[in-house]
Amino acid sequence: MAKRDYYEVLGVERGSSEADLKKAYRRLAMKHHPDRNPDDKDSEEKFKEANEAYEVLSDASKRAAYDQYGHAGVDPQMGGGGGPGFGGQNFSDIFGDVFSDFFGGGQGRGGRGGAQRGSDLRYTLELDLEEAVRGTTVNIRVPTLVNCKPCDGSGAKKGSAPITCPTCGGIGQVRMQQGFFSVQQTCPRCHGQGKIISDPCDSCHGAGRVEESKTLSVKVPPGVDTGDRIRLSGEGEAGAQGGPTGDLYVVISVREHAIFQRDGKHLFCEVPISITDAALGAELDVPTLDGRVKLKIPEGTQTGKQFRLRGKGVAPVRGGGAGDLMCRVAVETPVNLGRRQRELLEEFRASLEGDTSHSPKANGWFEGVKRFFGDL
Ligand SMILES: [Zn+2]
Ligand SMILES: [Zn+2]
Repeated sequence: MAKRDYYEVLGVERGSSEADLKKAYRRLAMKHHPDRNPDDKDSEEKFKEANEAYEVLSDASKRAAYDQYGHAGVDPQMGGGGGPGFGGQNFSDIFGDVFSDFFGGGQGRGGRGGAQRGSDLRYTLELDLEEAVRGTTVNIRVPTLVNCKPCDGSGAKKGSAPITCPTCGGIGQVRMQQGFFSVQQTCPRCHGQGKIISDPCDSCHGAGRVEESKTLSVKVPPGVDTGDRIRLSGEGEAGAQGGPTGDLYVVISVREHAIFQRDGKHLFCEVPISITDAALGAELDVPTLDGRVKLKIPEGTQTGKQFRLRGKGVAPVRGGGAGDLMCRVAVETPVNLGRRQRELLEEFRASLEGDTSHSPKANGWFEGVKRFFGDL
């Protein structure tokens, strides 16, 4: 099932403020919370959907990735903007964030302590068929989180250190009692780490990481195809609190070509030919990725006939010889006939009268029709 647009899920405008997002999410979460709708599959789905949407849109870098690349930019399968708790499986973390107001806390997402590996990022790189076949080098700009320099990624102001979380007393868990809620939750103040930053760094406000756009040069090897991934090790998001950096996956998407369709290492193209070339035979110019080549069409060529040009396909990125180019001819019926042309064809038609040897297909077909009606 195709994923719904996250803004649509939350029922908010694309440019909505953080507060509006939170309000919309809270309303949906209240309405569809499993405690309130036991054994209601539909509510459960809606609840998960809202969680996922909020998880992404409430995080500035994920939201930016989503705005730019859609679901692909934050697809958990690709690890893009992923990380623990993504997809609503571990909603307590998100909940903690939303309901932190109840505790007067609101340390923000940066309160998490402990080294965590940074998220992997996904970048979809669109290429023309020619670029994919020959290889290329492209510069891409990726929004990412990098370690904050002044605090060296710790989030704490120079000279200060994180303190024990006063909300949970360092346990990292709290029991929530709010209306119909009565659940053990990850501490919203320290996000389960048991420690908070009392004196946050001025540059990153305690997050330890700051958003930055960086330009990367990506070397695309020849022969890549849609879905191929190039891993740029260590070019993902910086890890939290000095954790290792994630990776960046550049995912290839090859644009449709005006002439060629590609299937693995083989290329396909359709070549329109005239009725006379098909009947009399001809030598045609056909396009390949390396320019034009001659293709000999024998006389009596039927429409749909495929000619194989060996080695004119694609050399696959994983090695092996180049594939072939298949040229499928399509016989074209002439239009806008002049008087003389019409006469010639009339004459030609008359010459066929009573002689079935020139139409092998039509003969077989008429025989079939006769048999069919005879059987009735
Ligand atoms: Zn705590
Ligand atoms: Zn900092």
